[in-house]
Amino acid sequence: EGRLTFDDVSFAYDAERPILKGVSFEIAPGGTLAVVGPSGAGKSTLARLLFRFYDVTGGRILIDGQDIAKVTQTSLRGAIGIVPQDTVLFNDTIGYNIGYGREGSGQAEIEAAARGASIAGFIESLPDGYQARVGERGLKLSGGEKQRVAIARTLLKNPPILILDEATSALDSRTEAEIQGTLNAVAARRTTIVIAHRLSTVVDADEIVVLEAGRVVERGTHRALLRKQ
Ligand code: ADP
Ligand code: ADP
Repeated sequence: EGRLTFDDVSFAYDAERPILKGVSFEIAPGGTLAVVGPSGAGKSTLARLLFRFYDVTGGRILIDGQDIAKVTQTSLRGAIGIVPQDTVLFNDTIGYNIGYGREGSGQAEIEAAARGASIAGFIESLPDGYQARVGERGLKLSGGEKQRVAIARTLLKNPPILILDEATSALDSRTEAEIQGTLNAVAARRTTIVIAHRLSTVVDADEIVVLEAGRVVERGTHRALLRKQ
C-alpha cells in the first residue's frame, strides 16, 4: 500500500504559462524519491497537485492505481502527510501543537498517545528531553526542535505517503544533519517524496529526479548523478 504514480503530469496556473510539462515517475510502496531542482522549477507545485490544492491540466496522479481526481478530499488528506519548510507553532504546549486540527483528538488524548508511545515513531521525533513535557506551556523551541514537532504532528496521522517539502532547508547545517537522521528513520517506513534544492540532502533516496523549468531533465541514484556532474 502506498504506490505513487505521476503519469505524464502537466500543469499550468494560467493557460499561457505551463509550469509542469509531462512529468512521470513512480514510487514503490515504502520507497523514497527525491525531487531536486532550482527555485521556480515546479517542485512545490508537484506537492500541491498531490494534495489537490489544484487539479492537473494533463496526465494523472495515481495512489495504488487509483486516480486521485476520483478520491475524496478526506481520504486523500488521510493518505498524505506533509512536513513543510517552516513550521509556525502556536504559543501553547507541544501536545497542543502536535494535535492541532486533528479531529477527535483533544490535547489530553494527544498527550496520552505521546506518553504511551502508541504510535510508531511518534515519541522518537519529539525534541530531545521533551518527551515527558508535552503538556508544559511556554517552552522555547529552536528551529530544529520546531521541525521535530512538525514531524510528530504529521506522524500522528500515520500517513502511508509522506512529503518532506524542503523540511530542513531553513536550518543550519548541523541542525539539518541532526534532523536528517530522524527524517530518514521516518521515511524508511513509508512512501516518501523528498523535495530539496541540493543533491547533498538526498543521499539516501532510492531515486532522484532533477526538475528544471517543469521537466524531468535527469534521473538516477545519488551516486549516478554525482558521476555525471
Ligand atoms: P519550486 O518549488 O521548484 O521553487 P514552484 O512550484 O514554487 O517551484 O513554482 C514554479 C513556478 O510556478 C514559478 O515560476 C512560480 O512563480 C509559479 N507559481 C507558483 N505558485 C503560483 C501561483 N499560485 N500562481 C501562479 N504562479 C505560481
Ligand atoms: P491536516 O490533516 O492537519 O490538514 P495535512 O497533511 O493535510 O494535515 O496538511 C498539513 C498542513 O500543511 C496544512 O495546514 C496544509 O494546509 C499545509 N499544506 C498542505 N500542502 C501543502 C503544500 N504543498 N505546501 C505547503 N503547505 C501545505
